[in-house]
Amino acid sequence: MARGIAEERVRTTLDGSDFQFKCTACGHCCKGPGDVYFTEEDLQAIKKHLKLGAFGFARLKRKLIQERIPGYYVHRSGEACILLQNNRCSVYEVRPLQCKTYPFWPSNFQSRANFRSLVKECPGTMAGKGRPMDASAVTKKVKATEREFLKPQGPIEDTIML
Ligand code: SF4
Ligand code: SF4
Repeated sequence: MARGIAEERVRTTLDGSDFQFKCTACGHCCKGPGDVYFTEEDLQAIKKHLKLGAFGFARLKRKLIQERIPGYYVHRSGEACILLQNNRCSVYEVRPLQCKTYPFWPSNFQSRANFRSLVKECPGTMAGKGRPMDASAVTKKVKATEREFLKPQGPIEDTIML
């Protein structure tokens, strides 16, 4: 678990390079086993976006939600998030914070090994595209992710982090 990432840590991870990111819409980050966290507000926004009635929404929740933790409903994706359709997010406009903030997650900048994995998995990173960001700019974005992701969890000890 990564928590309270410091600029110095991000600087060490980047090892003198600026960070670059521009999404290529490859869909890779929505595939493979992983957890996707939705708040109640996210689910309501998805219901509205997909124009689901009570029955359709209940059916979607049955498929989407495998676990409930403080502040979040958790989708444990197998081969891919079930909201990925034709390699596109079917709820892109109302996708959850976790998806909106990728790849600016604390874990991705916590160590050089994690960062190397990110670059390997996400072709939008360090590919010479996107505005170069120094460690300070990256840290601000990662800290914003931390703050927003922790908010729904409330003042509990066993919080989770991306
Ligand atoms: S893996 Fe990276 S480039 Fe591909 S869709 Fe996700 S954020 Fe975009
Ligand atoms: S909600 Fe959309 S962006 Fe997020 S993992 Fe699922 S398909 Fe991808």
